[in-house]
Amino acid sequence: MDCLFCKIAAGEIPSKKIYEDEIVYAFYDIQPAAPTHFLVIPKAHTMENCAQINEENAQIMGHIFQVIARLARQLGLEENGYRVVTNCGEDAGQTVRHLHFHVLGGGPLGKMA
Ligand code: 5GP
Ligand code: ZN
Repeated sequence: MDCLFCKIAAGEIPSKKIYEDEIVYAFYDIQPAAPTHFLVIPKAHTMENCAQINEENAQIMGHIFQVIARLARQLGLEENGYRVVTNCGEDAGQTVRHLHFHVLGGGPLGKMA
């Protein structure tokens, strides 16, 4: 499958990796929208976006959010807070059709659009 994030998770395209395990891969966004901006993705391309979360695949969400909480803590974002965003489809501006969660922090983020 010709998917950018599948290639990043497989190490075929270089990225600034923060963490990986058998289920998820976390790396810094190439175009940061905040002082700290990283992405957490499931390695398996089973969901294009959060609209495809269902009974069968929902378990992975708990793992993703545990990883987000741990990495945010390790990167010093916990004290002042951070934002977790997932763009779902065209109106949200989703550009990569492989489920991913943006984690933004490291300074005031302003209001949501
Ligand atoms: P979306 O707009 O789909 O929610 O988010 C896609 C994100 O992937 C964007 O924030 C964009 O900057 C990031 N991105 C696109 N191409 C690359 C890349 O090659 N490497 C990394 N690290 N991030 C990328
Ligand atoms: Zn993919």
